[in-house]
Amino acid sequence: MTWEANVLTLYPDMFPGPLGQSLAGRALGEGLWSLNTVQIRDFAADKHRSVDDTPAGGGAGMVMRADVLARAIDHVMERCPATPVLAMTPRGKPLSQALVRELAAGPGVSILCGRFEGMDERLFEGRPLLPISIGDYVLSGGETAAIVVLDACVRLLPGVMGAPTSGEEESFEAGFLEYPHYTRPFEWEGRTIPEVLRSGDHAKIAAWRKAKAVEDTRSRRPDLIERHGDARRTPPSGAQREDEG
Ligand code: SAH
Repeated sequence: MTWEANVLTLYPDMFPGPLGQSLAGRALGEGLWSLNTVQIRDFAADKHRSVDDTPAGGGAGMVMRADVLARAIDHVMERCPATPVLAMTPRGKPLSQALVRELAAGPGVSILCGRFEGMDERLFEGRPLLPISIGDYVLSGGETAAIVVLDACVRLLPGVMGAPTSGEEESFEAGFLEYPHYTRPFEWEGRTIPEVLRSGDHAKIAAWRKAKAVEDTRSRRPDLIERHGDARRTPPSGAQREDEG
């Protein structure tokens, strides 16, 4: 069955956008996943088709109306009852590779994209939404965040990535950053590729990569080490990639 993505947005023309290119675009063309946009404005009830209103309590900007958004969500949930609905918001749970993996293993995902100051908070009580943030910064709208979520999911779908093992080797999968990569030319601006990578000794290469993954995670992302604690698996070594040369 095709993995199905629904995007609820005021800007459907932003899709597929970057998702129509390269890996995700090819997979979309091959029917490995499908993308359906839902225009939120189609669910407005008044003659001005308004989707937002001024914030209760005052303040800058506009707030997306719960009633309009709920109708759009209900429409999508009726069509895809088993599909989780994500709401893009900087107030959400940070997106993780673990969640991406979970979503990719399911039937698909529906994503609600905010605009303006965000959505009426009652929506999160009235509908089973998963509030998700893609990072600690503020975007102008949820569409680019939705593209991030979909890109991360689609590359994990069966048949999308070339080498099936490469996904499991990557940054975050084991609670570590991935080891660094090098390729030809051997010497560039006086810098050479670490000698061990040219040794042909696969055990030594794997050990070097593991050590590098740990070292780089410690110095760049101590939060990952802290967060994963004892639950960490062994860092990626690239051992399964030996046959790729
Ligand atoms: N006033 C809000 C920001 C609104 S930005 C606040 O300070 O929390 C407008 C929309 O962009 C949001 O509704 C959300 O859908 C999207 N957005 C902005 N930053 C985001 C982030 N880091 N992750 C996910 N969505 C984001």
